Amino acid sequence: MTTTDILYQIRDLVVEYNTRAGVLTAVDHVSFDIHRGEVLGLVGESGCGKSTLGKALMRMIQEPGRITGGELWFDGVDLMQLSPGEMRKLRGSRISMIFQDPMTSLNPVQRVVEHITETIRVHEPHVSIKAARARAAELVDRLGINRNRLDDYPHQLSGGMRQRVMISLALALRADLVIADEATTSLDVIVEAQFLDLLKELREEFNLTILLITHSIGLVAELADRVAVMYAGRMAELADIHELFEQPQHPYTRGLLRAVPNIRLEDDELYKMPGSPPDLVSPPSGCRFHPRCPEASEICSRQAPTFHEHRPGHFINCWLYQEQEESVSLEASS
Ligand code: SF4
Repeated sequence: MTTTDILYQIRDLVVEYNTRAGVLTAVDHVSFDIHRGEVLGLVGESGCGKSTLGKALMRMIQEPGRITGGELWFDGVDLMQLSPGEMRKLRGSRISMIFQDPMTSLNPVQRVVEHITETIRVHEPHVSIKAARARAAELVDRLGINRNRLDDYPHQLSGGMRQRVMISLALALRADLVIADEATTSLDVIVEAQFLDLLKELREEFNLTILLITHSIGLVAELADRVAVMYAGRMAELADIHELFEQPQHPYTRGLLRAVPNIRLEDDELYKMPGSPPDLVSPPSGCRFHPRCPEASEICSRQAPTFHEHRPGHFINCWLYQEQEESVSLEASS
């Protein structure tokens, strides 16, 4: 892997929210790379910080939250140094996001065609309305929506069609990176399968890089090349999909995979991970997983391990795989 194969470098990223109960650290010194052309799955339980991380990568964290530390290097550009206007230009044209519920992202009083043509013309003002409309028609055709539906309002479309409109917005400007945040949650299984096929095709055709944020291990198994597992605001493990599924190392990853329903097993054999995710205003000391971890030892509650490359391409954050004096890591220990 050379640096030119890396599209996005995230280093020591910290995102905090001011809450009545105190400062909540949703993303805590997270470091990883997104490779050009890959699908990187980002999984973890609800509230682990994965959606916050996705928004932070677009610098879209809103008050009372803010990025309080770290570096974001996108294709060699230091995003933390860009002005809000420069960031707005980059969003859409280089990085796009597909949200869980398209209805919250699409303007209900704007027709589909206006969403797409405005997106094109904001970033490419020299494109005429007629040319932008022609491009919108080509795009929706490509995504399996009849171009006659361009004049529909979002509420006139099915959930699957609205997701396709969101994708067309992401593709209208040929974004390099698409962040899909729980993008299939509101879809039924048939539409979800179509959506996945479409993403696979588009990925091949446009060489898209996709960050797939999801709680669905099945979805990741379908699409991802690599998987990052988050727990309580920190990275737990990151590896190639096959390696992670066949040889999960982190006790949390192992629990997460065991908890996936398997139709070959009886219902009562389904594993339930003990305990629940911690309160991120006052998380457990040391390794945040230690109160739930079947393999915790004395050091785990005392000191946090570091997120380090345990073997080539396989990163892990656990004392089981780290010499206690080891110091080389991607992520700062706290
Ligand atoms: Fe379990 Fe300790 Fe590893 Fe944390 S560091 S996952 S508590 S063994």
